[in-house]
Amino acid sequence: MTAVITLRNVSRSYISGHPAVDGISLSVAPGEVLALLGPSGCGKTTTLRLISGLEQPDAGELWLAGKQVAGNGHWIPPEGRQVGVVFQDYALFPHLTVADNLAFPLVRWPRADCQQRIAELLALTGLEGLDTRYPHQLSGGQQQRVALARALAPQPALLLLDEPFSNLDAALRVEMREELRRIVRAAGTTTVFVTHDQEEALSLADTVAVMFTGQLVQIGTPLTIYQNPVNRAVATFVGDANFLPGLAQGDHVLCALGLLPLAQAATGPVDVLIRPESLQITPDVLGSRCVERIVFYGHDQLVYLSLPDGTILKARTRPHPTLAAGMFVNVHVHDSVVAFPSCGNELTIFPQKAYA
Ligand code: ATP
Repeated sequence: MTAVITLRNVSRSYISGHPAVDGISLSVAPGEVLALLGPSGCGKTTTLRLISGLEQPDAGELWLAGKQVAGNGHWIPPEGRQVGVVFQDYALFPHLTVADNLAFPLVRWPRADCQQRIAELLALTGLEGLDTRYPHQLSGGQQQRVALARALAPQPALLLLDEPFSNLDAALRVEMREELRRIVRAAGTTTVFVTHDQEEALSLADTVAVMFTGQLVQIGTPLTIYQNPVNRAVATFVGDANFLPGLAQGDHVLCALGLLPLAQAATGPVDVLIRPESLQITPDVLGSRCVERIVFYGHDQLVYLSLPDGTILKARTRPHPTLAAGMFVNVHVHDSVVAFPSCGNELTIFPQKAYA
């Protein structure tokens, strides 16, 4: 199956010697939803702009639907790329109604087809009945739906979204995340979106590409990125993480929480990644770990535990009425763990085994 987008060693510098995007290679399959995830300034938006044709690469190749659009002397401008873009601020035309905003990219369509397409888009995005409103008469979520519908109007091969939820409040953000997923699935449109929010990336995308300082450091399913991050930086960026020093011994690692199974065999000194939800706590007056404090979130809570050597660990548990600061507890790790080379030490990683 031909990828909808392929980037091969693509680089772009705004300032000589400081690449904003540094040798990125990736491809996106038809119908796939890809998240470009990374901290501010890591080059996500530049990558999106390179794909849309708003930026030209200094090096590398870019292919869209099997056709080279940049690199090696090829150049196809944005209007020739069949790409729909939703900008952070939606960029709706304030003086046009919803229907006229949607009609804008369909200017060359026969009138009847255009009317039919607008009706389809209003139904797809849940905007029926709002076609005569102006953007200022819409809520933030409705404005985003219009922007999405307008980008999808000409049936683009690819949809690009830059921080699609940044203008919405927390509750609406979660609702629109589900809506966006439903809409792009229903339309079958290959989608790339940019976000610095790990929850957004993990919950919405089929594939997550993690970027740091212009480089792609890991690409994989949300589960792989979360459970098997390639390094400490990715592990910390995509979720809460505890790290304990340990000694890897093949399939197991010895650390302050005992002998734990490793997801990937290794030997030597390591830092062990333990996700807070992997820790199970049992109150025990003879336990050697102490509850320092509890931060309650409603659906769950973070329990801060101190180990005898003073290390603090975070455990995520269900609300637990019997647990309180000052109590002694036992701690059990109920998943296999991941090991990273500890700073300055060599680590031998053996071929990866299936992750439970
Ligand atoms: P954010 O999440 O803050 O939007 P980002 O990951 O999308 O960041 P980019 O906007 O792609 O990052 O920027 C990557 C780097 O390129 C940053 O260091 C930024 O300062 C720089 N940069 C971006 N646009 C320009 C420009 N027009 N001129 C000079 N430098 C730029």
